[in-house]
Amino acid sequence: MRTFLLIHLVLLATTVPQGLSQVHSLDEWDVHDPDRPQPTMVTPGDLISSPAPSDAIVLFDGTHFNEWTHTNEDSVQWQVINNYMEVVPGSGHIQTTRSFGDVQLHIEWATPNSGTGQDSGNSGVYLMSTYEVQVLNSYNNPTYPDGQAASLYGQYPPLVNASRPPLEWQAYDIVFRRPHFEEDGQLKSPARVTVFHNGVLVQDNVILTGPTDHKSRPPYRAHEERLPILLQDHNEPTRFRNIWIRDLEHHSN
Ligand code: MG
Repeated sequence: MRTFLLIHLVLLATTVPQGLSQVHSLDEWDVHDPDRPQPTMVTPGDLISSPAPSDAIVLFDGTHFNEWTHTNEDSVQWQVINNYMEVVPGSGHIQTTRSFGDVQLHIEWATPNSGTGQDSGNSGVYLMSTYEVQVLNSYNNPTYPDGQAASLYGQYPPLVNASRPPLEWQAYDIVFRRPHFEEDGQLKSPARVTVFHNGVLVQDNVILTGPTDHKSRPPYRAHEERLPILLQDHNEPTRFRNIWIRDLEHHSN
């Protein structure tokens, strides 16, 4: 028994990625646990619609879908209206034509004023088409905390709820560091995400447990070093505007 324990401990010490404590803290909470504490509401300041800096790639400037396709590579069926894009429910997810790994992403969004729970303006920003920052109306619209706006869906509720009401524009500023894999597909280091919601820090360099899923937290599966950014069609006419991205591949401290 003692030998077994020792081996187990050595294995843990050699295979568990950095940030073990944060990964472990998730063990307290089941996926979508309704008893997880609701993040405190914080009223954000006025929206600052940050223009793209000179080294950013503008993914959407309000006029066209040149940087986007549907995931089946069809041309985009979502609509452009008054400088924003709007999900056409049922038309499918869209993704960038370019692929990215480490990024800084700015994106503005607004939900419709309809529905409740997970059916109120649900969409999502998927880093590497795989890791979702949830988009949802979370203004007086309770749901399971790891599925509300600015959650890392199924894993981390936001530190606070900085939501604006439906129809008002909101912003995410996201810093994403991709996972790294060994040549044999084993996880070398997990993905990390920082999110500001309407200028308020809501995810502080959290360590993702693996890909986003519904009602489960699957382990990492090795994937390419660069993959598209994906926006989710969850059957509701959610809007996006002013989307730009900075490639951080050659920027690290
Ligand atoms: Mg979603």
